[in-house]
Amino acid sequence: MKKRGYKVLIVDDEPVTRDMLATLLSSNGYKCDVAFDGKQALAKMDSEEYSAVITDVVMPDMDGISLTREISRKYPLMPVMVITGYAGKHPPDEAIKAGASDFINKPFAAEEFVVRFQKMMSDQEIMRLAIKDPLTNIYNRRHFNEEIRREIDRAARYERKLSVVMLDIDHFKNVNDIFGHQAGDSVLCELAMLVEKHIRKTDIFARYGGEEFCILMPETDIADAAGFAEKLRDIIERSAFKNIEKITASFGVSEYRKDDDLFSLIKRADDALYIAKNKGRNRVERL
Ligand SMILES: [Mg+2]
Repeated sequence: MKKRGYKVLIVDDEPVTRDMLATLLSSNGYKCDVAFDGKQALAKMDSEEYSAVITDVVMPDMDGISLTREISRKYPLMPVMVITGYAGKHPPDEAIKAGASDFINKPFAAEEFVVRFQKMMSDQEIMRLAIKDPLTNIYNRRHFNEEIRREIDRAARYERKLSVVMLDIDHFKNVNDIFGHQAGDSVLCELAMLVEKHIRKTDIFARYGGEEFCILMPETDIADAAGFAEKLRDIIERSAFKNIEKITASFGVSEYRKDDDLFSLIKRADDALYIAKNKGRNRVERL
């Protein structure tokens, strides 16, 4: 990822520190935005995309530790660096336990801060590469499988609903054959962005194979998941894509049943998808 695209949110109630950090990061090529406490930071994160957060600990309304905890719950991949002001009052591991990637004690040397910040960002990038699909930047199959295992455990233990939606672009081979692989790749990216716009924050969306995508929907039964799939099917059919006027997709939906494992749950969605293809494509089937 280009550094140019990185936007850092600096959260501190003291304007002097805030401006110092912003100047430091800007001169190292990062874009910056500021907030004066945790509440304002969370509000900003609702409407803006950030690549990292740097936060002070002691602030009015919502302190940096509570903010860090909230960020790691809502944005598990977001790197957070905590600036601890008064050594001793807050034990250093408090920030890490709350989900911070790193912390640094005040006062610190500018060079040390920059080096540690850059280290945090490169660690984050390595992690991102391990779980994301490089083309579409959504989750890869490996990460999806990890998530589905965890959600199956949760569904089994607490008797919760869990559904899987699998979708596959119809006649995708034709797109590649007629328009070329670059056009095919662009269709995959556009579709991924389109779907991502419509899923909930708690859903896990991944590229499962070539032109096959999977959505894991916690707290959702098969009727709601199929309803959502139908909505997506309609949206995809009505959307204009860059190189190709229109595409359609077929969907298979399954719901967690007692004693399901990763393979059986996905297999039912896959079998349903197969039925959708056989019944003429551009449709939703459930099993
Ligand atoms: Mg403060």
